[in-house]
Amino acid sequence: MRQSLVIANWKMHGDQKANEALVVGLLKLLGRQANRGECVLCPPFPYLAQVHELLGDSGVTLGAQDCSHSESGAYTGEVAAAMLADLGCRWVILGHSERRQYHQESDALVAAKLAAAQRASVVPVLCVGETREQREAGEAEQVVESQLRGALADQADLSRVVVAYEPVWAIGTGLTASPEQAQDMHGHIRGILADLDPEQGDKIRLLYGGSVKADNAAALFAQNDIDGALVGGASLDAEAFAAIVGAA
Ligand code: PEP
Repeated sequence: MRQSLVIANWKMHGDQKANEALVVGLLKLLGRQANRGECVLCPPFPYLAQVHELLGDSGVTLGAQDCSHSESGAYTGEVAAAMLADLGCRWVILGHSERRQYHQESDALVAAKLAAAQRASVVPVLCVGETREQREAGEAEQVVESQLRGALADQADLSRVVVAYEPVWAIGTGLTASPEQAQDMHGHIRGILADLDPEQGDKIRLLYGGSVKADNAAALFAQNDIDGALVGGASLDAEAFAAIVGAA
């Protein structure tokens, strides 16, 4: 049985005042939910310490939105996975489509970042997903397979990895994959993971991401291979995000 997991990706939003209001409001709402699954907040780097402090012993844990492929050294502007762990992060989002698109991140770089996260005992949340053009050309499954294999094939240990399927055409657009479309791709991903690691394939949690909202979350989470969500826009609203966590 895989425990549900809902991760908030705040992207490049927030300031200290807004963060405090959001986290305090969210914890109040989550406190009323019995038996909720795991929940993670990923603020921008400068606010990790603030959010860690606000989360306290609430059980909601902290993640980051990226990390370096390297452990330390002359990499101006980069943040090492061990620094994230030092600040209390347990998770790191890697290979997000916005990183692939705006920072030209390749599968090889994502694989190196993933290995660095694992060395620092930070759980990587690997994002994969096709563009609208790739889906229309019938290439979605092949694109996702090559992103998965590119990032995971050479990893020694898949026991502490989460995969998020995020169709690029659904991120921040208000378009969502239908529950059936999402399940089809999650089933495909599950098969590839089982091929990469027959022991772990069935245990790895698979999240859906792409315009998840309070009103579409339950239907997505009802699918066999959808174990939770990676949430962008709706995670900036305490009530909307708490409702998504509640639906998981
Ligand atoms: C994301 O950025 O990971 C995401 C899923 O964004 P949104 O929920 O806004 O589509």
